[in-house]
Amino acid sequence: MRLAERMERLGTETAFAVSAEANALAAKGRKIYPFHLGDMNLPTPSPVVEGAIKALRDGKTGYCPNAGIPELREALAEDINRSHQTGYTLENISIQPGGKPIIGKFIQALMDPGDEVLYPSPGYPIYESQIDFFGGAAVPYGFQERDGAFRIDLESIERSIGPRTRLLILNDLQNPTGSCCTRQELEKLAGLVEANDLLVLCDEAYFDIRYSGEPLSLASLPGMEPRCILLYTFSKKFAMTGWRLGAAVGPQEAASAITKLNVNAESCSTHFVQHGALAGLQGPMDEVEGILETLRRRRDLAVERLNDIEGVRCNKPQGTFYLYPNVTQLMERWNLSYEGFRKRLLEETGVSVCTRLHFGRPQSGEQGRFLRLAYAGIGAEEIEEGLQALKAFLER
Ligand code: PLP
Repeated sequence: MRLAERMERLGTETAFAVSAEANALAAKGRKIYPFHLGDMNLPTPSPVVEGAIKALRDGKTGYCPNAGIPELREALAEDINRSHQTGYTLENISIQPGGKPIIGKFIQALMDPGDEVLYPSPGYPIYESQIDFFGGAAVPYGFQERDGAFRIDLESIERSIGPRTRLLILNDLQNPTGSCCTRQELEKLAGLVEANDLLVLCDEAYFDIRYSGEPLSLASLPGMEPRCILLYTFSKKFAMTGWRLGAAVGPQEAASAITKLNVNAESCSTHFVQHGALAGLQGPMDEVEGILETLRRRRDLAVERLNDIEGVRCNKPQGTFYLYPNVTQLMERWNLSYEGFRKRLLEETGVSVCTRLHFGRPQSGEQGRFLRLAYAGIGAEEIEEGLQALKAFLER
């Protein structure tokens, strides 16, 4: 079959391929330690589950408005206004089947072919894939490891802005590095956005997976609300990865354009799932807080164990459920390729991880070698066992 030419430009999320490899080994009876995928092994809070079951019983099984049910759009606007000090109403909210579809829809709605889009690399690989697919010019920026954290490279962003730069993608609380911008960094970024007339996708998938520090969004800074489209998702905060529900939040024109893309693609997001999410937003938050507490304990344990391994250095991120340990010394000593290392580790120990290569095209001159471990889908006991196996493997 001859596929359309544009398919050659479409990337993918190769972490899913790692998952398939790990699952194939598990199916043969091997013990696997799943540090590879950002999926969660924690139950969705009961208010969401009960809300969705009730909605199913009440017959909320037909189409609903393309932009989502008004009650959910209103409740979400209020919730975001509380955390962001913004002035959104339901007109600014377009409910989506997950956070991921917002990336492609943002690009389709706001990027013309040939426009330059600044995006993070290492970063969520779908940015690059969608920019390439829709004929944009993908311009990466990176992060620098400093004082126990990854800092966004604002100088590289500033240097890269040219006459064709139109969009910026910011993923604050970042996958994979866990980088979290300071207020000063966000203010500097806001200055660049304003001065260069940019529009921003604020991918806030991990906005609520924050263990310390005050939440702050670029959209909360003066002049930024009309320039930002937020990617909101129920996946992480409410442990709803498989339910598929999120929202694009931004100026009405952008939200409407994105909803028009829904009319063409999905008609609407799943009706009864929206009622479940509404019940989650309006219900007690103790189970949501419990999810964050569990993740915090896993983070602390995993960081401590990783730093016990000679040749591994791991920062403790303020948020997300990812770790991005520096393994430069080990990999250079053994002269191993990323894939060689990853596959051997998986085959010999069952420890399944991603590497830098799963997070976009590496930039020329990039320093250091990194693995990415997720701890959302693996309990404390398995973290302990898995990281012991990793240590033994590396010491061997
Ligand atoms: N953005 C980032 C940075 C992510 O890591 C993810 C998922 O891992 C998403 C967006 C999309 O998540 P979902 O489609 O489940 O909302």
